[in-house]
Amino acid sequence: MSRYLSGKLSALEPYVPGEQPKNQKYIKLNTNESPFPPSEKAVSYAARAAENLNLYSDPDNTELIEKVAGYYGLKPEQVIVTNGSDEVLNLAFIAFCDKERPAVFPDITYGFYPVFANVNCVPYEEIPLNSDFTLNVENYMGLNKVIFLANPNAPTTLKISLDDIRRIAESNPQGIVVIDEAYVDFGNESAVSLVNDYSNLLVTQTFSKSRSLAGARLGMGFAGREIIEDLNTVKFSTNPYNVNRMTAAAGIGAIEDDAYMKANCKTIIENRAYTQRELRKLGFELPDSNTNFVFARHPAYTGEYIYTRLREKGILVRHFTKPAICDWNRITIGTAYEMEKLIQALKEITEE
Ligand code: PMP
Repeated sequence: MSRYLSGKLSALEPYVPGEQPKNQKYIKLNTNESPFPPSEKAVSYAARAAENLNLYSDPDNTELIEKVAGYYGLKPEQVIVTNGSDEVLNLAFIAFCDKERPAVFPDITYGFYPVFANVNCVPYEEIPLNSDFTLNVENYMGLNKVIFLANPNAPTTLKISLDDIRRIAESNPQGIVVIDEAYVDFGNESAVSLVNDYSNLLVTQTFSKSRSLAGARLGMGFAGREIIEDLNTVKFSTNPYNVNRMTAAAGIGAIEDDAYMKANCKTIIENRAYTQRELRKLGFELPDSNTNFVFARHPAYTGEYIYTRLREKGILVRHFTKPAICDWNRITIGTAYEMEKLIQALKEITEE
């Protein structure tokens, strides 16, 4: 730390992204990316857009937003696109949270939420999940604070119903309710259409998982016109050209190639069913996943042991050090071949 760092950030602990190995070839099941390449349409549109990289991108993202709005059945003024969904989440922390309206989220959820709160110097509260990782919706009634809920939740893989989201939105009229749907495409119902009914609801999604564009960095926010206006005020005060030309073009291609996305999600769901079945045969405990990853522990081994042994065998999974979940590992669902390799490696580890 330099002696110039602002005092308000001196205790800031940054988010630690999953490892992106540079040298060794691993089976990479640690950052919930898609194992499938982007749609060919996305790649060819991005390549064409590269020819105009001497020009700034469209700060209004008109073409992409029209495409996205059309796809989700909304008006363009109900949509914002961002540099990954991390950016729209950060914009929400900046725009809506302060001392009067702190952020609230579960104690076990996406690890970036407390970091966004801290970097923006807004207070936050963590509400404990039940011991089986389910969420007690009653804890979110009448808070009138800014509620962040990943649905399905990460890393626990569990979801809450749209009815519960409606109840939470209704009982918090003074606070925004942010539903982070990064993993919604793997077999879940989206709350996007509810933004027409609740003026305090913001739903976020990403192109990083189901649409195989994690490296392009493209996220979306859906809400009533006024919330989107507020997010744009912050966006235009921080990074007006937040979505680059190649990424915007890739996003349009990915939306047009919906059949490719749907087919990939179907494969991931099949591979997830295989992985869950085989993990349970090996004695692992895991909730039924609604995402493109599973969250598993073995009663006879620590989470760190499983993580380290898999790593030695060339398979990367995500291990957390937080005490409540340190015996669990988050394992991304990859191709059928990758999942067979994972199960084979775990068989060796648990039979040694
Ligand atoms: N929300 C959740 C729950 C996530 O797990 C992630 C991925 N790390 C994100 C949001 C952000 O993803 P991206 O910025 O790639 O859209």
